[in-house]
Formats: sequence, structure tokens, C-alpha cells
Amino acid sequence: MDSRDPKALMVILLGPPGAGKGTQARRIEEEFGVPHISTGDILREHVTLETELGQKAQQYMECGELVPDQLIIDLIADRIGQPDAAEGFLLDGFPRTTRQAVVFEEFLNNRQLKLDTVLLLDVEDEQLIARISGRYLCRDCGSDINVAELESMPESCAYCDGELYQREDDREETVKNRLQVYRRQTAPLVEYYRGQGLLKKVDGSGTVEDVARRVTETLKQEQGQEA
Ligand code: AMP
Repeated sequence: MDSRDPKALMVILLGPPGAGKGTQARRIEEEFGVPHISTGDILREHVTLETELGQKAQQYMECGELVPDQLIIDLIADRIGQPDAAEGFLLDGFPRTTRQAVVFEEFLNNRQLKLDTVLLLDVEDEQLIARISGRYLCRDCGSDINVAELESMPESCAYCDGELYQREDDREETVKNRLQVYRRQTAPLVEYYRGQGLLKKVDGSGTVEDVARRVTETLKQEQGQEA
């Protein structure tokens, strides 16, 4: 039996690059008190620290390809096994292939755990490209800032004054490849989770606040059903 807190949620955030998964995940983490686990963020940290995993992953990340499944499966098993994720978690960027999803399901089954919901952030391609090419990150607090929505390029982070930078793989050519990789390798997961009755589609267009409202509403309904 799954004996964890009925209010704690085990959620996957699914959606193409630029759909706003990271931005929404940071908000959900605060509001619902579940750790935001981003495989992309973990990998980027490994690359920065030049660990063995970072060195293996870097070549794939630079051209927008997926890192091999087994590396990711090991990484996620290790992260989910940590105490802060015992009651609930919010996965951003995982799973990205059917194999990852199948192995993850086995992993949860073996621990008598089950996913509560898979939230699909649905956004038109045109908006995705505009969002990614205008995306800057803060080196200090990690905030995501879209300069396309601003009148001019800010000198520093609006929240903590930290230095802003653009992700290497947010360059136009790499972005196109990342979208193709999403369609080919990750989009089939929409049907996979729909088939399991777990998929909740949320309109990801509009402002961060608009999307956050929709996401919160959907998760609260989910919590209500669980409680
Ligand atoms: P993200 O920050 O989620 O856009 O991920 C950045 C890059 O990290 C991706 O383009 C992949 O190269 C790699 N990556 C992140 N998560 C995964 C995953 N679940 N499977 C394979 N590669 C991943």
C-alpha cells in the first residue's frame, strides 16, 4: 500500500522545450512543498563540475540530443531515493523516452508508489521558439527571464541583481533540433500516460501567471481527489 501523505504529490511535468516547465515547477515547488527535480539542471551542474557524468553528457546536450537512457535512469534513481523526495516530487524533463518511462514505472512499483498525475503543458510551436530565444537565466538565483517580453535587455536579474546568461543549447539551430527530438522521442509519452489515465493537459499559453493559475487549479483538484 502507498502509505505516504495523501496531500503529497508525485507529478511529472511534460511538454516541449520552452513550454515553461522549469518556471512553473519552481512555483509549484514553493506552493505545494514538493522538490523540483530537473534532470537538465542536474546534468548542467555535472557539466560545470566536470564530473564523469558531466563529461559523458556534455556532447549530447550541446547539440540538443538526449543523453543515453541508462545514465539518466541511474541519475534519477539516485535523486528520487533521497529523503526529501520520499513523500512527493515534481519531475521536470524526465522521462523523455518510452524506455525511461517504463523503467521508472517499475522503479515506483517496486517501492509501492504511484504517480498522481502527468501535467502536459501545451504550447504552440511559434510561441515555443519565441520563448526559448528570449530566455535568459540568472547565474545566482536561477530565475528564468524572458527578454522578448521586455522593452530592452536588462543589465541584471530583476530579483537578485545577478548576472544574466543564455543557455548554450538555446541557440536557434540547437533549439530546432531539440524540438525535433521532443517530437520524435518524447511526444509518444503523451499517449503512453493518456493510456494510463494519468494525463492532464494544461493550456501553457499566455503569461507565467495565467499558466500558474491553471496548473495550481489542476494540482489542487488532484490533491482533493487524493485526500
Ligand atoms: P532541459 O533542461 O530539460 O531542456 O535538458 C537539457 C538537455 O539535457 C537536453 O537537451 C538533453 O540533452 C539532456 N537531458 C535532460 N533530461 C534528459 C532526459 N530525461 N533524458 C535524456 N537527456 C536529458
